[in-house]
Amino acid sequence: MMIIMKTTATKAEVRHVLQRVKDLNLHPHRIAGSERNVIGVVGDGRPVEPTAFIRLPGVASVIPISKPYKLASREFYPENTLIPIGEHVVGNGTPIIIGGPCAVESREQILEVAQSIKAAGAHALRGGAFKPRTSPYSFQGMGEEGLKLLAEARDLTGLPIVTEVTSPELVPLVADYAEVLQIGARNMQNYALLKAAGISNRTVLLKRGMSATINDLLMAAEYILSKGNQNVILCERGIRTFETATRNTTDINAIPVLQALTHLPVILDPSHSTGHWEYVSALARSGIAAGADGIIVEVHPDPANALSDGEQSLKPKRFTTLVKQVNAIADALKMAEISTNPLQ
Ligand code: PEP
Ligand code: MN
Repeated sequence: MMIIMKTTATKAEVRHVLQRVKDLNLHPHRIAGSERNVIGVVGDGRPVEPTAFIRLPGVASVIPISKPYKLASREFYPENTLIPIGEHVVGNGTPIIIGGPCAVESREQILEVAQSIKAAGAHALRGGAFKPRTSPYSFQGMGEEGLKLLAEARDLTGLPIVTEVTSPELVPLVADYAEVLQIGARNMQNYALLKAAGISNRTVLLKRGMSATINDLLMAAEYILSKGNQNVILCERGIRTFETATRNTTDINAIPVLQALTHLPVILDPSHSTGHWEYVSALARSGIAAGADGIIVEVHPDPANALSDGEQSLKPKRFTTLVKQVNAIADALKMAEISTNPLQ
């Protein structure tokens, strides 16, 4: 539930309400950046009576949150959560463009990609150092050596780093090197990992599991938020369907649906959702037209010899064209004052 304080509520009255929440073994969450003085209250699933708070001094009203994901819901926070990454603010209407290889493979490779995506106009560099591969015999990533190379690429280009973390023990290490911790599709319901990311001070890019519903994704985000980390970006990366012509099926529906249900930014990964470089640009364009807050795209200087996901990676030249197309769509929507907000 949400406790809405009166605009005239004193600090002592707010403190008193917070104390009452804790006395009932519930967890209070102050909503940072909200114009309203609101306290979110999350329990352990047992019903909580609004009457426990409604008569306390300074309280204006108590509103139940109907969704199982409390902190992630738009009921809890009706505005968009804005998340700075480098010089870009995700969620403010201008799409973030993240590019880079599936995996960091060598110094030459990552520095070359970083420079080319920077020149194309990307805002952040992606690249896996710890790779969760379906096969134990596939390339598993360069580990910390890969993180060091990503840091070098950041020094060279100024691009912030997005990289995957695959286990809770690795969160502090990856957080030392990267601005954004990616939690991959295969780990979306790794609750120990979600909790560890929730206590780190890094932004989390949470990818939808390939067989996860939208509700599952939001419940996974709730794990991170409930540990105190407000900076979560959701990523649609395609789901498994009966279709076999593409690696996954891009659930474009998920973009407006998520934006209606949550205040968290939503980006699209057209690379994993299609699995073929030929289709990546089309899906990236459609994601932006549907209102995505950005895209994350795999780019490799030599896709034919990539150690992972070469078949869905764009060459830098094609990525440069894609960035122009995506920006043109975003500009056209703005110029025509077409709102992509599903609630308007
Ligand atoms: C990736 O981004 O390279 C990746 C492994 O993605 P996903 O977790 O969506 O499969
Ligand atoms: Mn990949």
